[in-house]
Amino acid sequence: MKIAELFTKKQPTISFEVFPPNKMYTLEKVYEVIDELSLLKPDFMSVTYGAGGSTRGNSVDIASKIKNINKIEALAHLTCIGAKKEEISSILTDLKRNNIDNIMALRGDRPLDRELENGDFSYANELIKFIKENGDFSIGGAFYPEGHQETNDLLDLFNLKNKVESGTDFLISQIFFENEKFYDFREKLKKIGVKVPLVAGIMPITNGKQIRRITSMCGCSIPTKLRKILDRYEDNPQAMKEAGIAYAMEQIIELLSEDIAGIHIYTMNRVESSKKIMENIGNILRKRDEKNEY
Ligand code: FAD
Repeated sequence: MKIAELFTKKQPTISFEVFPPNKMYTLEKVYEVIDELSLLKPDFMSVTYGAGGSTRGNSVDIASKIKNINKIEALAHLTCIGAKKEEISSILTDLKRNNIDNIMALRGDRPLDRELENGDFSYANELIKFIKENGDFSIGGAFYPEGHQETNDLLDLFNLKNKVESGTDFLISQIFFENEKFYDFREKLKKIGVKVPLVAGIMPITNGKQIRRITSMCGCSIPTKLRKILDRYEDNPQAMKEAGIAYAMEQIIELLSEDIAGIHIYTMNRVESSKKIMENIGNILRKRDEKNEY
């Protein structure tokens, strides 16, 4: 099913993101993670894509497993930086051949460790237009409640509107740790007439060092309340995990009470935190399903 259609039948959706194999996760391990996450019955699962095509084969195979073996709707990420149109066309064919209906269309960032050729696309909106013209997919795009690092906030809003008008069916946010940032951005989008479903990206923190690295890379802020938790617990992995899950839970429960289109959990290929979160919102989701008669 196309995710755009899913949003017309069911809100809020709950979804998970996984990443393809790397030094720490073999393909078998990634498949185990997907099998365990599938038991939690998310509405869809997304699989990331290495900028410059570095994970191409695995990303399509993983999306195919999610869709065709685990029978969960799959959202395949695709980046366009350094890519030629022929390459993107062939990925679209691969995805369709594997029954994948949904693409998270991204620009990506130039990798620091290798040169990329100049490709045919400069920004995600060009990829989105190309996908619309060359395939029948539901398309998601990224947005940044605290703004994107490369552009000032006003210009970024304008670019986002342009990206939606190029054919984006729904938007998924960058991680954020203060719900107010998400609500403020949602208000701004409403004012400029952007009406697509907005999904909140939430990352349960399990490791203090990792989160400091990620936030410095993506430019999202760590509020005082979370900084205190990191300062207190980051040297105690078990306590850090508990505190991180509790923090994400608090964010999610508040977001769920605010008529949100969906929650997307950045699982970092870890199952335990997603399991705990799903256990804790079981009754909330049951209420949602009764209301949506899905
Ligand atoms: P764009 O929408 O192209 O925006 C990039 C910047 O360019 C912004 O500052 C924007 O304001 C500006 N801009 C946009 N259009 C124009 C224009 N026409 N003219 C001038 N400026 C313009 N990265 C990966 O490598 N793989 C993944 O799987 C992946 N998944 C992600 C999932 C989510 C939910 C998010 C939030 C990010 C993800 N990323 C991923 C990271 C993403 O690739 C980077 O954040 C990247 O810097 C921007 O990608 P974008 O698609 O938002 O780009």
